[in-house]
Amino acid sequence: MSKTIAVIRGDGIGPEIMEATLRVLETLQLGFQYDFVEAGLAAQEKFGELLPQATLDAITKHRVALKSPLTTPVGEGFSSINVELRKRFDLYANVRPAISFPNTRSRFPEGVDLVTVRENTEGAYIGEGQQVSADGETATLTQKVTRRGSERIVRYAFDLARRTGRKKVTVVHKANILKSTSGLFLKVAREVAAQYPDIACNEMIVDNTCMQLVMRPEQFDVIVTTNLFGDIISDLCAGLVGGLGLAPGANIGADAAIFEAVHGSAPDIAGKGIANPCALLLGAAQMLDHLEFGDEALRLRTAIRATLTTRDRVTPDLGGNGTTDSFADALIERL
Ligand code: NAD
Repeated sequence: MSKTIAVIRGDGIGPEIMEATLRVLETLQLGFQYDFVEAGLAAQEKFGELLPQATLDAITKHRVALKSPLTTPVGEGFSSINVELRKRFDLYANVRPAISFPNTRSRFPEGVDLVTVRENTEGAYIGEGQQVSADGETATLTQKVTRRGSERIVRYAFDLARRTGRKKVTVVHKANILKSTSGLFLKVAREVAAQYPDIACNEMIVDNTCMQLVMRPEQFDVIVTTNLFGDIISDLCAGLVGGLGLAPGANIGADAAIFEAVHGSAPDIAGKGIANPCALLLGAAQMLDHLEFGDEALRLRTAIRATLTTRDRVTPDLGGNGTTDSFADALIERL
């Protein structure tokens, strides 16, 4: 039976990079069907709301969505549709691969191939327990770490390692100082790790991790960590391999998964046909892994690598003089 994917074309450069990505996916002939739904500005214009029920229903039904960036409207109560989607579907794992590619502005054109698995629903970012004292002089934040939340994210990281042939999971923490919260995360991580004797596991304190990533990123394979540390580390890793134009991300829950580019809607270049589709394409590769089309995901990543060497056909942000379409065409020729 063919798989149906909910597709959100987004706004700004969203529709341009989505068209290129779907064209590339078609070439793989996986028989996907697409259910096009709206969110963000496009939904606001059509239906008068940013996140219509029909969109939520489509994600619930198909369980997998491919999503282009959405502009966050300024000055409205609804702060971020991405955060809202994460909450609605309890997308607890934020999964961010960082892979070296040639011809980027990266210091590491080879050697980096890692995935950061960030806990996405608790820690310091849940918005609870933030207080400013009556005199306005002191602000406090409570962070929450649970056994359940820690266990499911660490288990996700180990399962991902197993499924995708990765060999090692690094548990990143600050249990030496944050003894209760990071301490609980580390304790649970050790228990889970013991159940995966086939996958190596080491532990690293977050500040050392940042230094090690910058100095010897090739030592990392899968990193699993709590919300705030994961947020920072995943962007650091994106920077290691050439920036947001090459950074995909997935938000995964038990009942739904949403795959996307990490960058935004880039209003400054929207409509010009020069947006780099790489990050969304790499998000599509993550989706293929998730749907157990691992061979096709590898084919796609290999073709992206080959395409990046064609200076004239890559987009201007990568130093080329090509367009979104010329990049997609060059990629299709290499699939
Ligand atoms: P941005 O990522 O959209 O753009 C930052 C810079 O990077 C711009 O100069 C842009 O031209 C460039 N850029 C980004 N993606 C590119 C690509 N694929 N190819 C070539 N150049 C690219 O960040 P921003 O300008 O801060 O945000 C614009 C809007 O996007 C905001 O409304 C923000 O809230 C939203 N946003 C959405 C998401 C999402 O939906 N996942 C993520 C981040 C930001």
